[in-house]
Parts: sequence; structure tokens; C-alpha cells
Amino acid sequence: MASTTASQKAHLRSLIHELLLSPECQKIDFDFAFSHGYGYNRHKVDGWGYAHIALCLETPLNSGRGVSVRVQDETAEGVGASYDYGQNFIEVPAAVFGHTPIERRTLVHECTHALRDAHGMKSRINGAAGVPLGRTRGVEEEAEAFIAGALYLIYEGRAGGFTLATPTAPVFAAAQAIALKIADTPGALVGVGDHADLRKAILANKTYDKFMHGNMDFVYAPGPNGIKL
Ligand SMILES: [Zn+2]
Repeated sequence: MASTTASQKAHLRSLIHELLLSPECQKIDFDFAFSHGYGYNRHKVDGWGYAHIALCLETPLNSGRGVSVRVQDETAEGVGASYDYGQNFIEVPAAVFGHTPIERRTLVHECTHALRDAHGMKSRINGAAGVPLGRTRGVEEEAEAFIAGALYLIYEGRAGGFTLATPTAPVFAAAQAIALKIADTPGALVGVGDHADLRKAILANKTYDKFMHGNMDFVYAPGPNGIKL
């Protein structure tokens, strides 16, 4: 079994740090509307937020706090990355990860979960002044993360001069369709109706269906509760 060395982990952390501060990631800027127990709310996903997550990444200076990076046992089955809301870590499938546009899209997706976690119940919205964010459904947190990843890929494609094909997987196709609509409108609002198709695709996807069981009201536990710097 290949175990990950401290220097590989340090490399991964600095790769994620650079990614979050890259012009392409910093360009991501949208307001995500979602529904919860007492109405609708919005969560802002933007470069300031990603810069905050870059600051949260665990270093020797904030050891035991912040967001740490873990590497899956390469012999283990799962191939995806994930973010853990309870212990605040990003897990990637291999020590060598983040070197392709698709892998970077995945990292942006996971860091969007971390951003939601960092905000916790704190609102950064302009609209319903000071109304706490409240509890989000898991499917909506996923939709938000898929949109952010799709936007990132569009901006990286533009910067690198490659054009994106329409993804074959319905989740990525639905996320890309939303992202293409808002890519040139900083601060665009993605309304609850705008991400309905994406939510359906997430619920139908077998990765999520394993624990959401097609349940729109499934919530992640523990929910987003803040990250100590
Ligand atoms: Zn996710």
C-alpha cells in the first residue's frame, strides 16, 4: 500500500491554494438561491469566499484547525473526491491529483462545499438582510458545487483556448448549461427554478442516490457549521 508522505500532502495543499487563488477560480461569482424551512435564501459563491478557503487550508500554523487534505488509500475502491463537513477535510483519490482540468473542476466542487461549511449559518447576501442561511438540503449543496465546478471549467477552457464539449453525464451537462448562461454575468442569481433540472440529475445519479435515496429533503449531517481559521 502506498502511503502518502508529508511532502506529498504539502504539495497537494499548495496546489489547492494556488487553484483557489487562480484568476479562473477567482472569476466564479454567483448567488445561489435555495429553499429551506422558512422560505428562500441565497448563498454567495465568489472569489472572496475561495480566498477565505485558501486561508483555511491547514498549515503548521493552524494545525488542528482549518481544512486538511487527505489522500484515499489507493487500494480502496472509491475514485472520487469528497469534502467532510464534520471533520473539515478534503479527500482526494491519489497523491497525484489536480493536474488535469477535470480534476481541478473536482477540487473546486469540493472547495465549494468547504465554502458553504465556512459560512455556516452566516449570511452574506444583499437581499434578506441578516437572515441566517438556515439549513440547506444536500441536493442543493451539490447543485451549487456542480455549478461552481462547471464555471471553473469554462474559465479554464477560455484561458487555455480549449472549447468544452457537452458532457455525457446528465449532472455535468445540466451544470454546464447553467454555467454557460451565467459565465459572463458576475453576481448572477441562480434561482431555485433554474437549478431544477440539475437537482433532478443529482437525485438520479447513482453516487448520490446511494445515500439520498431520491429524497429531495435529505440533509448532510453535520450541516455546515463554520470553519475555525
Ligand atoms: Zn459534492
